[in-house]
Amino acid sequence: VMASFEPFLPLPASLKHLEADTHAGERLFEILDAKPETIAPAAPLPFPKDPAIRAENLSFSYPGSPVKTLDSLSFETLPGDHIAIVGPSGAGKSTITALLMRFWNTPEGCLTIGGADIGRFDPEELRRNIALVSQRTYLFAQTIRENLLLARPEATDDELKKALAAAGLARFSSKLDEWTGQHGMKLSGGERQRIAIARMVLQNAPVMILDEATANLDGVTEKEVTETLAALGAGKTMITITHRLKAMDQYDAIVVLDKGKIVEQGSHEKLIQGNGLYRRMWELQHTMEPV
Ligand code: ATP
Repeated sequence: VMASFEPFLPLPASLKHLEADTHAGERLFEILDAKPETIAPAAPLPFPKDPAIRAENLSFSYPGSPVKTLDSLSFETLPGDHIAIVGPSGAGKSTITALLMRFWNTPEGCLTIGGADIGRFDPEELRRNIALVSQRTYLFAQTIRENLLLARPEATDDELKKALAAAGLARFSSKLDEWTGQHGMKLSGGERQRIAIARMVLQNAPVMILDEATANLDGVTEKEVTETLAALGAGKTMITITHRLKAMDQYDAIVVLDKGKIVEQGSHEKLIQGNGLYRRMWELQHTMEPV
């Protein structure tokens, strides 16, 4: 995960709000180091209710870079599929997310949601409908309440408290108006991550992306939050980006990415029988760590 676009990711519903606030907006772009595409097409399509995601020969280079960060990727999910994207650090996993949310302009090849090119949607609409929790989360707004309302401005206190509880932060229910500190630094990494998860619960979007979403949580909290997210994700299209190969048989498909290329894809059962990168990652992790 690159710090350069992370701060942007957990705030899909909030672009307007942030842009209205010049200071936050400037900081956003400074941190982001990107110019997210925010211009809607003339006749944007409504976001599909049952979104399938498909990439075909998708390639992408970061502006000014001669390297193809993504090189001819093809994969697809059916509506409601839960897929995992795994692979070594720097393989390009998070870049796929950034393209889906149009933080970068049109890549080469084809990237569709519900059969329509992502360029056919209003970028704000895309970000409202794709909820994302990434490894690191910036909290822009000042209080817990404001940070949560970014995900659903009309939410009641009761809904905010339920979302906090679902994210393992019930003890924050009485602290909705507490200041989160500059850039949210007063909260621990795990707490910030759980605020992002509470936002995801509130946003209740048809597509969920978990980019190392539980990486900062302790074992017990991780288990609880993972269960919450699995329940929330039932019937939704979910993409999980992870280094750690845990409970992999829950995914409909696993995409194995290495140096910008898909080197394998299929079910856990199929991949584990192969002799490729997935099998090596699996064996490495399961001989070094208890499962
Ligand atoms: P990790 O598992 O470490 O999070 P990843 O598989 O998610 O890695 P990406 O974050 O997608 O990998 O990065 C893929 C490549 O793209 C890396 O070489 C990275 O340096 C490069 N990259 C990522 N973001 C940017 C950016 N904003 N500008 C230029 N290059 C970038």
